[in-house]
Amino acid sequence: MSVLKPDFRFNCILDIKPEDIKNSGAKFVLLDTDNTLALHGSQEPLKGVLEWIDEMRKNGIEPILLSNNSRERIEPFAKKLGVPFVYKSAKPLSKGFSIACKKLSAKPEETAVIGDQIFTDVLGGKLFGSKVFLTEPIGPETNAFIKFKRIIEKFIR
Ligand SMILES: [Mg+2]
Repeated sequence: MSVLKPDFRFNCILDIKPEDIKNSGAKFVLLDTDNTLALHGSQEPLKGVLEWIDEMRKNGIEPILLSNNSRERIEPFAKKLGVPFVYKSAKPLSKGFSIACKKLSAKPEETAVIGDQIFTDVLGGKLFGSKVFLTEPIGPETNAFIKFKRIIEKFIR
């Protein structure tokens, strides 16, 4: 199913260059947080993420966090990174994507989603009309439901 297939696959978000985003037609990046920018629930960004955000901005690409996690988890992390955020975004539903676009004054076709999960990041991004960059999760899963989804994803990837 094409809505479950990412447009691009990378091992890690740090491997994605500004040119990769620009070449996809996007100028805004909607960033998943858990297991994409930091270990699940961790306030410590992956080493290099702050510089990565800087580099994107220098190239005219604006980032925003788009996470299904709570305000308590996302707000302090977003402040540390100096980027706007949407929490409890309900990916794959379009609601959170729309809020993110409103905050950025972006159109769906100008956005790229970067995340590690098929059923939230990829499905949500494809349904919304974003370009989708799938990355490998940077850490082990802690939540039983996510672990279950991973097993299903193995058959799709
Ligand atoms: Mg994630």
